[in-house]
Amino acid sequence: MPTQLDAAATLTHLAQSDPDIYQMIRSEEERQETTLEMIASENHTSPAVMEAVGSCLTNKYCEGYPTKRYYSGCTYYDAVEQLAIDRAKKLFNCQFANVQPHSGASANTAVFFALLEPGDVYASIVLSEGGHLTHGSPVNLSGKWFKPVHYPLVYDEKRPDWGHIDYDAVRALCLQHKPKLLICGYSAYSRIIDFPRFRAIADECGALLMADIAHIAGLVAAGVHPSPFPHCHVVTTTTHKTLRGPRGGLIMTNDPDLATKIDKAVFPGTQGGPLMHVIAGKAVCFGEALRPSFKDYAKQIVANAKVLAAELTAKGYGIISGGTDNHLILLDLRKTDKELTGKAAALWLEQAGIITNKNTVPKEDRTPFVTSGLRLGTPALTTRGLREPQIRQVADLIHRTLASRGDEKTIAVVRADVAELARQFPMAH
Ligand SMILES: *Cc1c(COP(=O)(O)O)cnc(C)c1O
Repeated sequence: MPTQLDAAATLTHLAQSDPDIYQMIRSEEERQETTLEMIASENHTSPAVMEAVGSCLTNKYCEGYPTKRYYSGCTYYDAVEQLAIDRAKKLFNCQFANVQPHSGASANTAVFFALLEPGDVYASIVLSEGGHLTHGSPVNLSGKWFKPVHYPLVYDEKRPDWGHIDYDAVRALCLQHKPKLLICGYSAYSRIIDFPRFRAIADECGALLMADIAHIAGLVAAGVHPSPFPHCHVVTTTTHKTLRGPRGGLIMTNDPDLATKIDKAVFPGTQGGPLMHVIAGKAVCFGEALRPSFKDYAKQIVANAKVLAAELTAKGYGIISGGTDNHLILLDLRKTDKELTGKAAALWLEQAGIITNKNTVPKEDRTPFVTSGLRLGTPALTTRGLREPQIRQVADLIHRTLASRGDEKTIAVVRADVAELARQFPMAH
């Protein structure tokens, strides 16, 4: 008899009871095996994490927090959640962690609910310059129910800090609008975030400082990017990007009063029962990230991104801010060809088996559905074991695809080369 976990890995029950979904999952496995995943926010989590997420822990209601639950039968769930909390605190070197947010967006919603009243002013980056939907988009709760004001990047390409956060503009904006909350942390920003400088501005204008490290959490955990602690009052993140865990969110702080408010804002403020199977997966992920090998992984992510940036620059591509300090680069396609859109580039690359996303760039004049930028990331390729020599090959594959301007024959040849490279780096099972 297979054990429950063996069954989850081999999907024997699913194959029997729901062949349609079974086949879709198998097809997706093959897609992941045979393509190169370069979406900066994606990764391949470990089989251990997937086993936890696929476990019987999905069956239980655990509303509340460890030892303070509303339902009986939570003994093992208390242990799982407490271990996830303890590991998160150790990993990020902080005092309080809430591991229940279902996602990064849920974590941010809970922080808004905890710290702001409807209509309150807060500050975040101009969204088309690297921000996230939950930092004030007019179609998101953060933009509909609160009043965001936005700071820009440095636009002047003659300045050494071109494409970096314009800290003088952040300060001027905050002194003018007196936001209750100042948010740093981004979705398409390739440079180190200066947390102490943000904190000085927050203190000067009387704001609380929040870092949303959704993208860079794995780099922070490994010490490859400076920590938001002790500078930030609140830190939110996802667990599935560079941190390489299950899809989920996390909120941290060092302030006991804020911790109480945040716990109440997550449950019962904005969520019901926690996803205990995912929390178990988070605990496994944090355990993996605490191992020395995770530091090597995070260092290699950045080394790979730097090589990718250098290779693409040498081939004549323009990169916002001129390079990268982290796991991602943002190509400004206008520098290559005024007619080339992010939409076309991402489509051709997908046809070639290289999965990326179109992205807005500073001073964007196309819509978010078309864009002039392309975002590329190295976390998933690094997980598969690609290092500098293969990243040089990947840069070449990207260039051949884009330079073909969509030529079908060229793309078919690149697709075969992509499959061959992918075949040499099988996924962990
Ligand atoms: C990805 C991301 C989020 C949202 O995470 P979800 O899990 O998709 O809700 C929030 N903030 C930033 C900066 C992100 O990049």
